[in-house]
Amino acid sequence: MPRSDRAVGFFDQALETLSLEEREAYTTRNLQEMVAYAYAHAPAIKARFDKARLSPQDIRTVKDLEKVPITKKDQYAELQKENYPFGGFVTVPPNQLRRIYVSPGPIYDPQGPEPRYWRCEKVLYAGGFRKGDIVQNTFAYHLTPAGLILDEALLALGCTVIPAGGGNTELQVTILRDLKVTGYAGTPSFLRTLLKKAGELGYQPQKDLALEVAFVAAEMLPESLRKELEEEYHLHVRQGYLTADVGTIGYEYQEKSGLHIPEELLVELVDPDTGVQVGPGEVGEVVITNFNKTYPLIRFGTGDLSYFIGEPCPCGRTSDRLAKLVGRTSEATKVRGMFVRPGQVDEILGKHPEIVRGQVIVTRAQHQDELIFRAELREGISHPEILKDLLGQTIRQVMKLRATVEFVPPQVLPEGGKKILDARKWD
Ligand SMILES: [Zn+2]
Repeated sequence: MPRSDRAVGFFDQALETLSLEEREAYTTRNLQEMVAYAYAHAPAIKARFDKARLSPQDIRTVKDLEKVPITKKDQYAELQKENYPFGGFVTVPPNQLRRIYVSPGPIYDPQGPEPRYWRCEKVLYAGGFRKGDIVQNTFAYHLTPAGLILDEALLALGCTVIPAGGGNTELQVTILRDLKVTGYAGTPSFLRTLLKKAGELGYQPQKDLALEVAFVAAEMLPESLRKELEEEYHLHVRQGYLTADVGTIGYEYQEKSGLHIPEELLVELVDPDTGVQVGPGEVGEVVITNFNKTYPLIRFGTGDLSYFIGEPCPCGRTSDRLAKLVGRTSEATKVRGMFVRPGQVDEILGKHPEIVRGQVIVTRAQHQDELIFRAELREGISHPEILKDLLGQTIRQVMKLRATVEFVPPQVLPEGGKKILDARKWD
């Protein structure tokens, strides 16, 4: 019998259901305190304020934040290089952190000493996870924080965790069955892969598996895929919006309409060129100011585009809600949960002088991302097949992803054209 309590309740009811006046007061108080703290303890934030001739007292309200220049996620690799390891944005010495993570770039991300640093418990509770669940966590545990973010929150909720990480599809199906796993955490496409594999191995997922609840993140969840998971496999599927720098930014509850924003940060949606906050219902870049004293982010530009849902939510949570993500401000995009950036295409080309130009194309088939690297060869290159293998290895090393390499004739890739072409459809 599936548990009936997955769709009810709050993790922290008092905070999640603050009245709008209380919520505004809570947010404003945290914002003022955070700006003052960050200015005093994070040299890079002080420098940015000083350069803009701002003092912490100038920021009293969310609207006042418009005065502060946005720091874009894509800039962090460079800012960190100027001042290792964190570019002056972290307020404690590296040896006082619990963990340091590495994203492609490389970009280093801290995990501070605070308990519940990633604030993911509330998200998983809203997603239907309960004490007593046995959860197969297929997010990666090495370098990136995803695996441990989920792991710590699941333990805090009283779940049992299988730290599976990605890959090993057949073994993962065996584990699902042998251990009567009730919960899944990972990307939606990998969940589908596991269920299909279970079918191929002769199992009837509904009879042979105990899976009931799934938390998915790190890639888009097309509604067609959610429907398939719900109707064919009777799973309770909720998604979250998490990043390696911020942690949780948005999460779904029972009603599946939009992403609630947790109370520990504030989200502005802004015009990516001017930094001015956009009006209700308008699409803008998701810009984060958090209330985290180890790694204060004051106007951190995620590069993701979304819009607010105006109406109050029937679930009783009073936070703002983001609609789904509708795109990116730059060419950087997530492929199989990993960010791919234009700079990585340049890095790959720098290692292969035999190639004149290159472009990455992202497509999607059967709910799986596919990466194609198109390369234009210099004239007179012998043994292009060997080069194809070598190039594939370089791509895997730089992007941490497998790609199909295609050589294209001259003039197919225009000079100065896009480095990354995202041709995916999310229906
Ligand atoms: Zn709600």
